[in-house]
Amino acid sequence: MSIATVDIYRELVQIPGLTVGRDEPMARHTSFGLGGPADMLVIPEDVSALSRLVRRLADVEVETLYIGNGTNLLVRDGGIRGVVVKIAGALMGITPDEHRLVSGAGESLAAICHYAAQRGLSGLEFAAGIPGTVGGAIVMNAGANGGEMAQVLDWVEAVNPTGQVEHHPRAELDFDYRRSQFQGGRWVVTRVAVALSPAAPNQVRYRMYEAVEERCQRQPVSECSAGCIFKHPPGDYAGRLLEETETKGMRVGGAMISPKHANFIVNTGEATAADVLELIRHVQEKVEEKFGVRLDTEICICGEDA
Ligand SMILES: Cc1cc2nc3c(=O)[nH]c(=O)nc-3n(C[C@H](O)[C@H](O)[C@H](O)COP(=O)(O)OP(=O)(O)OC[C@H]3O[C@@H](n4cnc5c(N)ncnc54)[C@H](O)[C@@H]3O)c2cc1C
Repeated sequence: MSIATVDIYRELVQIPGLTVGRDEPMARHTSFGLGGPADMLVIPEDVSALSRLVRRLADVEVETLYIGNGTNLLVRDGGIRGVVVKIAGALMGITPDEHRLVSGAGESLAAICHYAAQRGLSGLEFAAGIPGTVGGAIVMNAGANGGEMAQVLDWVEAVNPTGQVEHHPRAELDFDYRRSQFQGGRWVVTRVAVALSPAAPNQVRYRMYEAVEERCQRQPVSECSAGCIFKHPPGDYAGRLLEETETKGMRVGGAMISPKHANFIVNTGEATAADVLELIRHVQEKVEEKFGVRLDTEICICGEDA
């Protein structure tokens, strides 16, 4: 940590409502289970503590990364200079509002899916089994099986770069495949409302169960990964191209292309981010050589090299 960062640390620990850690290994906060330390990791107690934090960090111009539950993140081995603000488990609570559910951004997608099924609300079946937070799912416009968060979204509440809380109706927001305007790290998503339709609870539950079962068949869900590494290229499927490169099971250090799903890289125990990045580069080259298509990564890559 630089002297300036130590000063900021001393200041942040004095702000009520913040839990502040130093030199926090990001391996503990990512589903990949790897990545170097963040100078500081801050968990805000509520939206007002978060607003105070955002204002102070803007004043001192320190690099800041907002994360959900780290299920779509690859943090490089040198870690993150500056502050990581973790929302998972912090901004919680799900409340019904007619056929809408209003959720804190730190709730897990699993929790809101479960809540919807219990109340007989349909629309989130596609999301069953996607890990991570509700906030992260909006930022990434997470989706599966033809569904995506943008289709059920009603509004988003976010804290802007000056610490103000803003309300954004769906109609004002642009989404695309795995893309939202909340990417880029300037806004923090704090609350989300999804609009659902009434249905028999058993039917909703069964469709969610089927989605999770199918996922377990196809994906290495019990291993450390960050989900699909690459986005689908326009008009095709990344998985189809990757299958044909015959790279399943290939290893660099402790990272391996999953033998179960060619678009997943798993940490077999001792992987470094450099191992994962090397595999990514190798696979990108193979696909480009064979099909003339450059695959873009879906995962968010951050931090600095060791
Ligand atoms: C086994 C497995 C299966 C997966 N399957 C799918 C799938 O089917 N479909 C799919 O779309 N994804 C899938 N993913 C990827 C991942 O689960 C989703 O992208 C998820 O929505 C990310 O949520 P998160 O809270 O973990 O976000 P993080 O990984 O913590 O962050 C993702 C991005 O969003 C930003 N961010 C997160 N929260 C906030 C916030 N509150 N405010 C501002 N910025 C924020 C971060 O800076 C980062 O850029 C899978 C991952 C795994 C490990």
